[in-house]
Amino acid sequence: LLEVSGLVKEFDGKPVLNGVDLSLEEGQVKVIMGPSGCGKSTLLRCINRLVEPTSGRILFRGEDVTRPDTDVRALRQRIGFVFQHFALYRHLSALDNIKLGLRKLRRMSDAEATDRACHELRRMDMEEHRDKYPAQLSGGQKQRVAIARALAMDPAVLFFDEPTSALDPRMAREVVALINQLFMDNVTMLCVTHDVFLARYISDRILFLDHGQVRAEGDVEQLLDAHDDPQIRAFFGPGT
Ligand code: ATP
Ligand code: MG
Repeated sequence: LLEVSGLVKEFDGKPVLNGVDLSLEEGQVKVIMGPSGCGKSTLLRCINRLVEPTSGRILFRGEDVTRPDTDVRALRQRIGFVFQHFALYRHLSALDNIKLGLRKLRRMSDAEATDRACHELRRMDMEEHRDKYPAQLSGGQKQRVAIARALAMDPAVLFFDEPTSALDPRMAREVVALINQLFMDNVTMLCVTHDVFLARYISDRILFLDHGQVRAEGDVEQLLDAHDDPQIRAFFGPGT
């Protein structure tokens, strides 16, 4: 589905991504971890072209999406994005937050959009809260609406950028459980997180990014539980 090779991103001549290679197959879930500032968010943003890569190649379903003539809008519709701080519209209810993209981008009728939005709200166990505004929802509930909104657009892949880090531990666990359900449903996902619990429950593979490069890639056991590289062991610490 996704094949990133030699991706470089510089800000003011300073490399943040320094030749990143990454691949993601249909139905696969990869987690990206690494120290703060190592370029994790920048990597996700380069792939959906919120940030212009300096060089390198990104193939999305075989098509090079770094080319200048890429339809960036179409690309972003195929990549659902869930952010740390939810990014919901404050003046819209949960239901209307989800319907907005369906109406504007998918050009669905009002009834169709409502049906679709309710379906995704149910999947996130949020249907009873459909008429609430973001200010009336807990952090975990807001994140569930944000995930429902991303899923409603029927994306080829879901990107998460630290979906649980703004939540208290109990709400974070709720959100992990729902993301885990998507994992079981074979939804393709790429997830940046510092949350070892999340990494453990939702990933096929974990990538460890450091200084703008993939330092290691492995399954949960290889990376979280035991790794030869002392720096990676130190990062995850004992007993995680
Ligand atoms: P965190 O775990 O704290 O979220 P991260 O791994 O997501 O960190 P990025 O947000 O990708 O890190 O940032 C990587 C580096 O790039 C940082 O040093 C940051 O200051 C720099 N950076 C990010 N965006 C910009 C920008 N628009 N202009 C200049 N520098 C930037
Ligand atoms: Mg980040």
